[in-house]
Amino acid sequence: MALERLLQGFADFRLGYYREHLELFEKLASEGQSPEILIVGCADARVDPGILTQTKPGDIFTVRNVAAMVPPAQYPPDERHHGTSAAIEFAVRGLHVKHVVVLGHALCGGIAALVDGRDSAYADYDYLATWTSIAQDVRELVVSRLDGRPRAELARTLEQAAVVNSVCNLMTFRWIAERVAAGSLSLHAWWFNLIEGQLHAFNPDTTAFEPVLGVKLGGAITQQTALSAIRPERFVMAVAGRKPAF
Ligand SMILES: [Zn+2]
Repeated sequence: MALERLLQGFADFRLGYYREHLELFEKLASEGQSPEILIVGCADARVDPGILTQTKPGDIFTVRNVAAMVPPAQYPPDERHHGTSAAIEFAVRGLHVKHVVVLGHALCGGIAALVDGRDSAYADYDYLATWTSIAQDVRELVVSRLDGRPRAELARTLEQAAVVNSVCNLMTFRWIAERVAAGSLSLHAWWFNLIEGQLHAFNPDTTAFEPVLGVKLGGAITQQTALSAIRPERFVMAVAGRKPAF
Protein backbone atom coordinates (compact mmCIF):
# COMPACT_ATOMS: atom_id res chain seq x y z
CA MET A 1 0.00 0.00 0.00
CA ALA A 2 1.41 3.32 -1.01
CA LEU A 3 1.68 5.96 1.68
CA GLU A 4 -0.55 8.16 -0.49
CA ARG A 5 -3.40 5.76 0.34
CA LEU A 6 -3.00 6.69 4.00
CA LEU A 7 -3.01 10.39 3.27
CA GLN A 8 -6.09 9.97 1.08
CA GLY A 9 -7.62 8.08 3.97
CA PHE A 10 -6.91 10.96 6.32
CA ALA A 11 -8.35 13.46 3.85
CA ASP A 12 -11.51 11.33 3.67
CA PHE A 13 -11.62 11.07 7.49
CA ARG A 14 -11.33 14.86 7.88
CA LEU A 15 -14.15 15.57 5.46
CA GLY A 16 -16.32 12.64 6.50
CA TYR A 17 -16.03 10.95 9.92
CA TYR A 18 -14.46 13.93 11.68
CA ARG A 19 -17.16 16.31 10.50
CA GLU A 20 -19.92 13.86 11.31
CA HIS A 21 -18.54 13.43 14.83
CA LEU A 22 -17.44 17.02 15.40
CA GLU A 23 -19.41 17.33 18.63
CA LEU A 24 -17.83 14.18 20.02
CA PHE A 25 -14.32 15.35 19.15
CA GLU A 26 -15.01 18.75 20.73
CA LYS A 27 -16.29 17.06 23.89
CA LEU A 28 -13.28 14.74 24.05
CA ALA A 29 -10.93 17.69 23.55
CA SER A 30 -12.51 19.84 26.23
CA GLU A 31 -13.40 17.18 28.83
CA GLY A 32 -10.65 14.65 28.16
CA GLN A 33 -11.00 10.91 27.73
CA SER A 34 -12.93 8.66 30.07
CA PRO A 35 -13.01 5.19 28.48
CA GLU A 36 -14.47 2.39 30.59
CA ILE A 37 -12.63 -0.36 28.79
CA LEU A 38 -8.97 -1.21 28.28
CA ILE A 39 -8.17 -3.65 25.50
CA VAL A 40 -4.78 -5.35 25.34
CA GLY A 41 -4.58 -6.54 21.75
CA CYS A 42 -2.04 -7.89 19.29
CA ALA A 43 -0.06 -5.63 16.94
CA ASP A 44 -1.20 -7.84 14.05
CA ALA A 45 -2.55 -5.67 11.20
CA ARG A 46 -5.64 -7.86 10.83
CA VAL A 47 -7.08 -7.47 14.30
CA ASP A 48 -7.72 -3.80 15.01
CA PRO A 49 -9.77 -3.68 18.27
CA GLY A 50 -11.54 -0.46 17.27
CA ILE A 51 -12.74 -1.91 13.98
CA LEU A 52 -13.67 -5.30 15.49
CA THR A 53 -15.83 -3.63 18.13
CA GLN A 54 -17.09 -0.72 16.01
CA THR A 55 -16.31 1.74 18.79
CA LYS A 56 -15.97 5.49 18.62
CA PRO A 57 -13.02 7.70 19.64
CA GLY A 58 -12.91 7.85 23.44
CA ASP A 59 -14.61 4.46 23.96
CA ILE A 60 -11.63 2.14 24.43
CA PHE A 61 -8.11 2.64 25.72
CA THR A 62 -5.90 0.32 23.71
CA VAL A 63 -2.43 -1.12 24.07
CA ARG A 64 -1.19 -3.39 21.31
CA ASN A 65 1.95 -5.49 21.38
CA VAL A 66 3.25 -8.76 19.94
CA ALA A 67 0.77 -11.55 20.76
CA ALA A 68 -1.40 -9.39 23.09
CA MET A 69 0.66 -10.28 26.13
CA VAL A 70 0.67 -8.88 29.65
CA PRO A 71 3.92 -9.40 31.57
CA PRO A 72 3.79 -10.13 35.29
CA ALA A 73 4.09 -7.14 37.61
CA GLN A 74 7.60 -6.13 38.61
CA TYR A 75 7.93 -5.25 42.29
CA PRO A 76 9.68 -3.14 43.20
CA PRO A 77 9.46 -1.35 39.82
CA ASP A 78 12.85 -1.22 38.10
CA GLU A 79 14.43 1.13 35.54
CA ARG A 80 13.50 -0.94 32.47
CA HIS A 81 10.97 0.22 29.89
CA HIS A 82 7.73 -1.50 30.79
CA GLY A 83 5.57 -0.10 27.99
CA THR A 84 2.60 -2.44 28.34
CA SER A 85 2.58 -2.25 32.14
CA ALA A 86 2.71 1.57 31.99
CA ALA A 87 -0.30 1.69 29.65
CA ILE A 88 -2.24 -0.74 31.86
CA GLU A 89 -1.38 1.27 34.98
CA PHE A 90 -2.54 4.52 33.38
CA ALA A 91 -5.82 2.96 32.23
CA VAL A 92 -6.55 1.37 35.61
CA ARG A 93 -5.20 3.93 38.08
CA GLY A 94 -5.57 7.09 36.01
CA LEU A 95 -8.68 6.47 33.91
CA HIS A 96 -10.44 4.03 36.29
CA VAL A 97 -11.54 1.66 33.53
CA LYS A 98 -14.14 -0.90 34.60
CA HIS A 99 -13.04 -3.70 32.29
CA VAL A 100 -9.73 -5.02 31.02
CA VAL A 101 -9.99 -7.24 27.95
CA VAL A 102 -7.05 -9.29 26.71
CA LEU A 103 -7.77 -10.04 23.06
CA GLY A 104 -5.78 -12.81 21.39
CA HIS A 105 -6.49 -14.13 17.93
CA ALA A 106 -6.20 -17.02 15.47
CA LEU A 107 -3.11 -17.34 13.26
CA CYS A 108 -1.04 -15.17 15.62
CA GLY A 109 2.54 -14.88 14.31
CA GLY A 110 3.99 -14.14 17.74
CA ILE A 111 2.42 -17.28 19.18
CA ALA A 112 3.51 -19.34 16.16
CA ALA A 113 7.12 -18.21 16.77
CA LEU A 114 6.77 -19.22 20.42
CA VAL A 115 5.41 -22.66 19.44
CA ASP A 116 8.24 -23.22 16.95
CA GLY A 117 10.95 -22.06 19.37
CA ARG A 118 14.43 -22.51 17.90
CA ASP A 119 12.91 -23.70 14.60
CA SER A 120 11.16 -20.36 14.14
CA ALA A 121 12.26 -18.14 11.22
CA TYR A 122 12.45 -15.33 13.78
CA ALA A 123 14.53 -17.20 16.35
CA ASP A 124 17.53 -14.88 15.93
CA TYR A 125 15.55 -11.65 16.27
CA ASP A 126 16.83 -9.33 19.00
CA TYR A 127 13.66 -8.91 21.06
CA LEU A 128 10.88 -11.21 19.91
CA ALA A 129 11.60 -14.41 21.86
CA THR A 130 12.40 -12.47 25.03
CA TRP A 131 9.06 -10.72 24.83
CA THR A 132 6.96 -13.81 24.09
CA SER A 133 8.80 -15.77 26.81
CA ILE A 134 6.14 -14.22 29.07
CA ALA A 135 4.25 -17.37 28.09
CA GLN A 136 7.27 -19.71 27.89
CA ASP A 137 6.15 -21.98 30.74
CA VAL A 138 2.71 -22.24 29.17
CA ARG A 139 4.32 -23.07 25.83
CA GLU A 140 6.32 -25.94 27.35
CA LEU A 141 3.17 -27.28 28.97
CA VAL A 142 1.18 -27.11 25.71
CA VAL A 143 3.94 -28.85 23.75
CA SER A 144 4.30 -31.66 26.30
CA ARG A 145 0.61 -32.20 27.12
CA LEU A 146 -0.57 -32.06 23.50
CA ASP A 147 2.34 -34.10 22.18
CA GLY A 148 1.43 -35.79 18.90
CA ARG A 149 -1.43 -33.47 18.03
CA PRO A 150 -1.28 -31.27 14.88
CA ARG A 151 0.76 -28.06 15.07
CA ALA A 152 -2.41 -26.07 14.31
CA GLU A 153 -3.97 -27.38 17.51
CA LEU A 154 -0.85 -26.60 19.52
CA ALA A 155 -0.83 -23.06 18.12
CA ARG A 156 -4.52 -22.49 18.82
CA THR A 157 -4.24 -23.88 22.34
CA LEU A 158 -1.25 -21.64 23.05
CA GLU A 159 -3.02 -18.62 21.53
CA GLN A 160 -5.81 -19.14 24.05
CA ALA A 161 -3.66 -20.28 26.98
CA ALA A 162 -1.44 -17.20 26.52
CA VAL A 163 -4.53 -14.98 26.88
CA VAL A 164 -5.47 -16.77 30.10
CA ASN A 165 -1.85 -16.42 31.24
CA SER A 166 -2.01 -12.66 30.58
CA VAL A 167 -5.21 -12.33 32.60
CA CYS A 168 -3.49 -14.24 35.40
CA ASN A 169 -0.55 -11.83 35.14
CA LEU A 170 -2.96 -8.87 35.35
CA MET A 171 -3.85 -10.10 38.83
CA THR A 172 -0.20 -9.74 39.93
CA PHE A 173 -0.52 -5.93 39.72
CA ARG A 174 -1.67 -5.01 43.21
CA TRP A 175 -3.88 -2.12 42.04
CA ILE A 176 -5.68 -4.54 39.70
CA ALA A 177 -6.14 -7.31 42.29
CA GLU A 178 -7.47 -4.71 44.75
CA ARG A 179 -10.03 -3.36 42.28
CA VAL A 180 -11.18 -6.82 41.20
CA ALA A 181 -11.62 -7.78 44.89
CA ALA A 182 -13.59 -4.57 45.47
CA GLY A 183 -15.86 -5.30 42.52
CA SER A 184 -14.94 -2.16 40.57
CA LEU A 185 -12.96 -3.96 37.85
CA SER A 186 -13.54 -7.13 35.87
CA LEU A 187 -11.20 -8.94 33.52
CA HIS A 188 -11.94 -10.74 30.27
CA ALA A 189 -9.99 -13.25 28.19
CA TRP A 190 -11.09 -13.10 24.56
CA TRP A 191 -9.87 -14.79 21.41
CA PHE A 192 -10.91 -13.70 17.92
CA ASN A 193 -11.08 -16.33 15.20
CA LEU A 194 -10.41 -14.24 12.12
CA ILE A 195 -10.89 -17.30 9.88
CA GLU A 196 -14.57 -17.46 10.81
CA GLY A 197 -15.14 -13.93 12.08
CA GLN A 198 -16.16 -15.32 15.48
CA LEU A 199 -15.31 -13.94 18.91
CA HIS A 200 -14.77 -16.36 21.82
CA ALA A 201 -14.64 -15.57 25.54
CA PHE A 202 -12.98 -17.66 28.24
CA ASN A 203 -15.44 -19.03 30.75
CA PRO A 204 -13.70 -19.91 34.06
CA ASP A 205 -16.66 -22.15 35.00
CA THR A 206 -16.19 -24.43 31.98
CA THR A 207 -12.45 -23.75 31.47
CA ALA A 208 -13.17 -23.21 27.78
CA PHE A 209 -13.34 -20.44 25.22
CA GLU A 210 -16.98 -20.19 24.17
CA PRO A 211 -18.44 -18.35 21.18
CA VAL A 212 -19.89 -14.96 22.05
CA LEU A 213 -23.42 -14.86 20.67
CA GLY A 214 -25.05 -11.49 20.25
CA VAL A 215 -24.42 -9.19 23.20
CA LYS A 216 -24.58 -11.94 25.83
CA LEU A 217 -21.24 -12.40 27.55
CA GLY A 218 -20.45 -15.17 29.98
CA GLY A 219 -17.19 -15.74 31.72
CA ALA A 220 -16.09 -12.41 33.14
CA ILE A 221 -13.38 -12.69 35.78
CA THR A 222 -14.77 -10.88 38.80
CA GLN A 223 -14.46 -10.82 42.60
CA GLN A 224 -16.36 -14.14 42.58
CA THR A 225 -13.77 -15.90 40.43
CA ALA A 226 -11.23 -18.09 42.20
CA LEU A 227 -7.66 -17.40 41.10
CA SER A 228 -7.19 -21.13 40.52
CA ALA A 229 -9.92 -20.99 37.84
CA ILE A 230 -7.83 -18.72 35.63
CA ARG A 231 -4.55 -20.61 35.88
CA PRO A 232 -3.30 -21.28 32.32
CA GLU A 233 -2.14 -24.75 33.44
CA ARG A 234 -5.75 -25.61 34.25
CA PHE A 235 -6.85 -24.51 30.78
CA VAL A 236 -4.12 -26.52 29.02
CA MET A 237 -4.99 -29.64 31.05
CA ALA A 238 -8.65 -29.18 30.12
CA VAL A 239 -7.80 -28.98 26.42
CA ALA A 240 -5.56 -32.05 26.71
CA GLY A 241 -8.46 -33.93 28.27
CA ARG A 242 -10.83 -33.17 25.39
CA LYS A 243 -10.83 -34.85 22.03
CA PRO A 244 -8.56 -33.20 19.43
CA ALA A 245 -10.10 -30.16 17.72
CA PHE A 246 -8.14 -30.65 14.50
ZN1 LIG B 1 -0.99 -11.81 16.94
